[in-house]
Amino acid sequence: MQTVLYPYRGNLYVNLTNRCPCRCTFCLRQTKDEMDGSGSLWLEHEPTVDEVRAELDKYDLSAYGELVFCGFGEPTERLDAIVEITKYVKSVSDIPVRVNTNGLSDLINGRDTAADFAGVDAVSISLNTPEPEEYLRLTRSRFGPGSFEAMLSFAGRVKDYVPRVTLSTVGTTITSDEEGRCAEICRKLGVTYRIRPFE
Ligand code: SF4
Repeated sequence: MQTVLYPYRGNLYVNLTNRCPCRCTFCLRQTKDEMDGSGSLWLEHEPTVDEVRAELDKYDLSAYGELVFCGFGEPTERLDAIVEITKYVKSVSDIPVRVNTNGLSDLINGRDTAADFAGVDAVSISLNTPEPEEYLRLTRSRFGPGSFEAMLSFAGRVKDYVPRVTLSTVGTTITSDEEGRCAEICRKLGVTYRIRPFE
């Protein structure tokens, strides 16, 4: 039995795919198979929308703070499934829906995908660094140069459809000067900057 949904820190997480265009040097998948007793997050097959719905029906969604698309892969590799599942969740519950993403949805799907996120309550994007070259060194994005700019462009457009858009870096991984530059990038984009704790 594979792990499609897993509770984590008061939220319910959706593990849709193991695909990702990046190979981040810090990716937890390199050192872990699961998150806090979730069971292995390596999928035998990508769950269909119907399979995810059936799993969701086993949970009392009102017991969780958020439903979060975030597993052992990049959720926007399955953007259509995110859209369908979000519609379903909103039809049965008022739980807020968040997508945790590397922000490369447009490159992954080969088009402007910002409008697809209408209905989602929050999008959290990994900014990692204020430097495009350093971003590429850290993420090893298969899209190569231009990935950083594509991620920022997506962030600036998706905020027209999603109430809460956050770009984050991890505390202690960059200097305070770099954090200041990240804050300035976010200010110009009109999105929130968050320094999240090192895990
Ligand atoms: S984007 Fe996320 S899932 Fe993909 S390699 Fe980086 S940390 Fe891992």
